Amino acid sequence: GASWRYYEPAMNDAVLRRIELETRLRDAIRIGALELHYQPIHALRDGLPLLGFEALVRWPQPDGTLLPPAQFIPLAESSAELIDALGAWVCATALHHLTLWRRDHPGLTLSVNLSARQFDRVGLADRVIGVVAASRGESDDGQVPLQGLEFEITEGAMMRDPQRTHEELMRLREAGATIAIDDFGTGYSSLAYLKQLPIDRLKIDRTFVRDLDRDADDAAIVLAAVELAHRLGRAAVAEGVERPTQLHALRAMGCDAVQGYGLAQPMPARQVPAYLRGVAAG
Ligand code: C2E
Ligand code: CA
Ligand code: CA
Ligand code: CA
Repeated sequence: GASWRYYEPAMNDAVLRRIELETRLRDAIRIGALELHYQPIHALRDGLPLLGFEALVRWPQPDGTLLPPAQFIPLAESSAELIDALGAWVCATALHHLTLWRRDHPGLTLSVNLSARQFDRVGLADRVIGVVAASRGESDDGQVPLQGLEFEITEGAMMRDPQRTHEELMRLREAGATIAIDDFGTGYSSLAYLKQLPIDRLKIDRTFVRDLDRDADDAAIVLAAVELAHRLGRAAVAEGVERPTQLHALRAMGCDAVQGYGLAQPMPARQVPAYLRGVAAG
């Protein structure tokens, strides 16, 4: 009869909670209830001029807290449609802010994270360009559509289908975007792709940066990554810079740019104009 009601109730609860969360996330994306926070990326030159920001998604909850992406991106990634909807919203929102802020800071860039899952469906680049064209609407003045946007992709995303990824990245670059490898050194990858793929920047993962000012092995890895980037004609960005001693070590290594709590925390969009007024432009 109805014995299924009593089958593994704990697991049932987990499944129900997950379905509820997924429904709430779907609604949040649809009504634009997510938020992008922006973390500054500064050039590692005198005066630390600002280059741009990385867009990081948060989900405001009814109790006023912000759910971090680690608690809902994996859920979104379990559905191709959900992660695409989230990705489209992130692109459109970042582009809206970029257009606004670029009026006074023409060289500013915004970096957007792409999930490996977004490469599973063919035509990622065209979907992104379509979203951007649609959000620009009639105000599109024929300029390069993705100018100033950078897409961050992990090594995993690049290794999924290297040939197709290559084509998608070329499309995004033709539209004016730049490409960064995120979390460099942590993923499964081959160095050969670095030579082949159209990549502009290499972001050295925080796990190597964390102790680089007190651990000779980490320092060796970061230096090797910076030199590899430079020899291939790419720029190196260090993530997770928290202390001046890390900054000094990175400067001595010739690293090009830095990002981390030691420079600035991610901030809501409404705080960005004041930040822009307070720093030198890169
Ligand atoms: P990520 O792309 O590696 O982003 C950097 C993460 O490090 C961010 O966490 C940022 O707040 C944090 N961080 C920055 N500086 C420091 C520091 O000095 N110390 C420490 N301990 N942490 C620092 P967040 O915002 O929680 O994002 C976590 C991950 O979620 C991101 O890692 C990215 O993989 C993913 N994510 C965030 N936004 C998006 C998005 O819009 N789309 C997709 N697909 N993924 C996103
Ligand atoms: Ca990132
Ligand atoms: Ca990263
Ligand atoms: Ca990461």
